[in-house]
Amino acid sequence: MFDKILIANRGEIALRVIRAAREMGIATVAVHSTADADAMHVRMADESVCIGPAPSPQSYLSVPAIISACEVTGAQAIHPGYGFLSENAAFVQIVEDHGISFIGPRAEHIRVMGDKITAKETMKELGVPCVPGSDGGVPDLETAQKIGDEIGYPVIIKATAGGGGRGMKVAKSAAEMERAFHTARAEGKAAFGNDEVYIEKYLTTPRHIEIQVFGDGKGNAVHLGERDCSLQRRHQKVFEEAPGPSISTEERAEIGRICAEAVAKIEYAGAGTIEFLYENGEFYFIEMNTRLQVEHPVTEGIFGVDLVREQIRVASGLPMSFSQEDLTINGHAIEVRINAEKLPNFSPCPGRISAYHAPGGLGVRMDSALYDGYTIPPYYDSLIGKLIVHGRDRQEALARLQRALGELIVDGVDTTIPLFHALLQEPDVLEGKYNIHWLERWLEENL
Ligand code: ADP
Repeated sequence: MFDKILIANRGEIALRVIRAAREMGIATVAVHSTADADAMHVRMADESVCIGPAPSPQSYLSVPAIISACEVTGAQAIHPGYGFLSENAAFVQIVEDHGISFIGPRAEHIRVMGDKITAKETMKELGVPCVPGSDGGVPDLETAQKIGDEIGYPVIIKATAGGGGRGMKVAKSAAEMERAFHTARAEGKAAFGNDEVYIEKYLTTPRHIEIQVFGDGKGNAVHLGERDCSLQRRHQKVFEEAPGPSISTEERAEIGRICAEAVAKIEYAGAGTIEFLYENGEFYFIEMNTRLQVEHPVTEGIFGVDLVREQIRVASGLPMSFSQEDLTINGHAIEVRINAEKLPNFSPCPGRISAYHAPGGLGVRMDSALYDGYTIPPYYDSLIGKLIVHGRDRQEALARLQRALGELIVDGVDTTIPLFHALLQEPDVLEGKYNIHWLERWLEENL
């Protein structure tokens, strides 16, 4: 087992990794930008290294700075968290070339899944059901129009390098194809330096269901059921739950088996998420994330396992601590994302936290790097906390969420807390009757 690991991240996820490491008796190194000198992850780690100025390209994304921090402190492994360098195959290669362990999958798997076209081809070959669409990249408008006519409108044009909801455009009819095609290409080029796009049938009422998988890198893998992350704004998740209210035990076992077998076959190492759209009882693969996800705590809640601990174990060469038979679902968990954003436009709202009080009690988990007097810097994303609740069933989890939200105090900046108070009054949310468009529609009507 490692003696010391470095966490190449900030905020709540850096704390999450420090906590797991500490329970395992592993020393931790935090890295930080000058803007984060007073951040909680710096205070909580055993050691810290300043790796550059505030803008992330010069700090949290600076590969030389992070490698140097490892060498200076003697850290043997790097946990990337999510975002930043977590899905950067070139980074993983450099880390390994320096004799440092990467706590995550191999570079090759990150590369394959990071390109949505090769990801889809690979999954198709592994027997995972995919959304009907173009076979690979679509070179020009003429081909795009032909494919649109073949699969039928509406269609979605997606940048193969896209992520975070960017580089996607819907064409409702043939007339909209030209514009959607060129916009998706331009967005892909501008945001990711790659203008390759592909086309999929646009599903009109799906839910977003994702399967948590975990592999040991040696051909063994398990699944940890699904999360329903259908409540989204601009393709960004805001409320996640497990198990999915619409998924039966049989469906879970079937899609879970398909996913676990697929990752076992490629000898995938560590945590991964296979994302699907789910409509009329069918699953359609959309992408795989080769990292720990923001919403992983809901899965931890219902299975009672520590996914970060497991990642560290597997990266150090140990076997997984659980088998598929050990994994049984206990109750229901819900996470809401607390962002420093001002409603109704969700504009970022950095600033000083004049008071912070985290909720507590049975089944309540608050993952946050906030503290009284902390100033949220304007340079990074606006997620400032995740409130996760667990109950014996969905109804108990919902009641607990409402109770915990009532205890949560974040003064000094605007947050998304009022959004969740309002959503918990909605019969559709209480009954779990929503799809990926529900929240957008609700926001239009209510905010
Ligand atoms: P990103 O990598 O940007 O997150 P994804 O491919 O995971 O992109 O898609 C993000 C979201 O976009 C999905 O959760 C869903 O809401 C919507 N979406 C993606 N593909 C389709 C599709 N074929 N039909 C309908 N909605 C889609």
